[in-house]
Amino acid sequence: MSLVSITHTAGYAPEQILSDVRTHLGRFRLTERIPADSRVLIKPNLLMKRRPEEFTTTHPTLVEAVIICLKEAGIKNITVADSPGGLYSAQLLKGIYDTCGISEVCRRQQVALNFSTDSREIHRPENHLVKSFPIIQPACDADFIIDIAKLKTHAMTGLSGTVKNLFGCIPGLTKPEYHWRFPEKELFGEMLVDLCETLRPGFALVDGVQAMEGNGPSGGELRELGMIAASDSLYDLDFFLCHVIGIDPMEICMVKSSVERGLCCGDLDKIELAGEMPRVRPFVIPQDKGIDFIGHVPKALRKPVKGIVNRFFTSRPAIRKKDCIGCGKCAESCPAKTIAIQNRKAVISYQRCIHCFCCHEMCPVKAIDIKRTTLFDH
Ligand code: SF4
Ligand code: SF4
Repeated sequence: MSLVSITHTAGYAPEQILSDVRTHLGRFRLTERIPADSRVLIKPNLLMKRRPEEFTTTHPTLVEAVIICLKEAGIKNITVADSPGGLYSAQLLKGIYDTCGISEVCRRQQVALNFSTDSREIHRPENHLVKSFPIIQPACDADFIIDIAKLKTHAMTGLSGTVKNLFGCIPGLTKPEYHWRFPEKELFGEMLVDLCETLRPGFALVDGVQAMEGNGPSGGELRELGMIAASDSLYDLDFFLCHVIGIDPMEICMVKSSVERGLCCGDLDKIELAGEMPRVRPFVIPQDKGIDFIGHVPKALRKPVKGIVNRFFTSRPAIRKKDCIGCGKCAESCPAKTIAIQNRKAVISYQRCIHCFCCHEMCPVKAIDIKRTTLFDH
């Protein structure tokens, strides 16, 4: 039986966060399990250049609390790293680390912050779908990975939890290539589970103090949930998160894949909860969710039906021209290369769009809506 640890944590007061993170780590005897000479990677969710109060990225107080606990246990070789959305360069990393409050934490705690943009191919022949991934160097070098995710709904995958957070271990613009290769959610979920099996993080925490609902992972609304959760099983933790926010776990592609592979127990009764299950009004789901009925179509008919569905019924990104500042971040992150900047405004050509919503995710001014199309919009 796996364990999921829960604390009710209202706000980001550093003393409270440190005390609650200590509780979580203590419940798993985590620092006793990591040899002191280990190289530990802390992988927060630093999706984009947003301040901590914009509830898009992992709050720096959680990162700092984990570092303090590791250092207290004599673990000194600690690196914080992420490959956020968009280009992967030292200059862009600095801007994101600074804005997200991570630079200050690492400076104060005197731990390494990764600026290398090197990566290496990691092979795992046992994987189901993707047997080799390019992985950022600090994740390749780590003996132990701690995943600190942000609890958000997600326009494509439904949930941005601990397994999805690992997508940030794939360097820069290689990430959109995976959307292009696996446009169907089912396959995308299989790919994410393969990635998790390749990286095998030893522990995960979820920052659900200020969560995001609606059009996450960047355009949603604040949800004051007041919860931190943790587990050494990322799959069971994501399964638990689905129950917290009121989404059927089997609707979430990577959770479904982990249940089908027997990596997730798939039953809340089989998860031991340390702490109280929060009573939560269901989260507002992203506009794209709930219309993915392709999964209910017999497999043999999916291809032709998918064409019709994509043409007439799926949601699509829609640029709000008056808000677009012409920065080009959407075009940069579009795996289908179907966005052009014309007269300093983004324009989408929908024929090639694979509905991955990377553009929506990366727009710094939330100028891309998710529009639910119907037959009559065409
Ligand atoms: S236009 Fe947006 S949703 Fe469509 S493929 Fe490009 S990034 Fe994905
Ligand atoms: S839609 Fe957003 S990301 Fe794209 S160019 Fe306009 S402001 Fe930039």
